Amino acid sequence: MKVHEYQARQLLRDAGVPVPRSEVVESIEAAVAAHHHIGGTVVVKAQVFAGGRGKAGFVKLCPTPPETEAAARFMLSNRMVSKQTGPEGIAVKKLLVAEAVDISAEYYVGVVLDRTRRTPVMMVSREGGVEIEEVAARNPDAIVKEWFHPHLGLQSFQVAKLIDALGLVDKGQVKAAGLVLRGLARIFLEKDCSLAEINPLVRTPAGQILAIDAKMNFDDSALFRHADIQAMHDPTEENSAELRAKAADLTYIALDGNIGCLVNGAGLAMATMDIIKLCGGEPANFLDVGGSVTTEGAIEAFRIILADPKVKGVLVNIFGGIAKCDTIAEALIAAAQEVGFKVPVVVRLEGTNVERAREMLKSANIDRLVPAKDLTDAARKVCAQVA
Ligand code: GDP
Ligand code: MN
Repeated sequence: MKVHEYQARQLLRDAGVPVPRSEVVESIEAAVAAHHHIGGTVVVKAQVFAGGRGKAGFVKLCPTPPETEAAARFMLSNRMVSKQTGPEGIAVKKLLVAEAVDISAEYYVGVVLDRTRRTPVMMVSREGGVEIEEVAARNPDAIVKEWFHPHLGLQSFQVAKLIDALGLVDKGQVKAAGLVLRGLARIFLEKDCSLAEINPLVRTPAGQILAIDAKMNFDDSALFRHADIQAMHDPTEENSAELRAKAADLTYIALDGNIGCLVNGAGLAMATMDIIKLCGGEPANFLDVGGSVTTEGAIEAFRIILADPKVKGVLVNIFGGIAKCDTIAEALIAAAQEVGFKVPVVVRLEGTNVERAREMLKSANIDRLVPAKDLTDAARKVCAQVA
């Protein structure tokens, strides 16, 4: 689960990390009022689940209330398009109006899980800010890492090493940076984050160390023990297909390719994606309809897959163990009648009641339905259809 910057900032404040004052607003008038409350120059920032806002013009320094008014009007009435959004962009519903700060240096600080070492890792860089991806690609040595124990946390000697890597020597700044690094590591562990990042952490000309942007993702499987994080959930920002799937008890994850997948069982769904890739195709989603799928559930799965405009072909791969092939056949027929197959749907069925399922499909004579004799045949056929 993702949260907004303003929510991540609050978690940082609660952990003792210095963060400038700010207010969250949903209208132009409220943005102007917030400017008056905060005073001086403010920075107006779109609150969306995508980065690259600075480059897209959705982080704006506003010295006066009329400038805040114009920035708020622009952000609330234009979709934000950045490297992370895709060309259609995303609508902005909330803005953060924050006290602006003068910046002498921008640092990067982030914690992720290192799956290879099976332990969290804190990464820091003196070259923080909007170019961090390029820094990581061009000069990986500019990013210094410390792996820490998931129960013991970030140790003092590690904090010292990381602060040294940031080039901070002034006593007050070292102390402040220590609060930031420890606070971030603690949030990561205590709240079961999959990502906790401050970019940039800044040094002001007066020598203050402040977090002015924050990003946090949380492990969905651990949300049950964090009522406070669950309460931050903003469903309006999530992929609507993923929300629909959740409501129908389907495990669905949207991907970038053009071959929709409808499979029963997570392992089989992964194998299906692998074989699509092996045949030169790209899956548009991961979808596990589960073992005890109903006709209604399977129809909803078709609706979700076919509603994705990227999908140019569908691969249905069902091994009827608990799920019955005739249930899927029934859903295929109903979905074909309801939504109509505008793209080819390649079907591989095997297992319980497969003969009956094949007869049902044959007599239904569905337009654009392509039967396959096995999984390899199915993957080849669907890849050929979308090529
Ligand atoms: P992102 O582009 O989505 O990561 O948004 P950020 O909040 O990181 O802002 C992008 C950039 O805008 C930062 O790297 C800063 O250079 C600049 N910026 C953001 N807030 C301030 C501020 O208060 N003062 C100044 N001078 N620059 C800021
Ligand atoms: Mn940032």
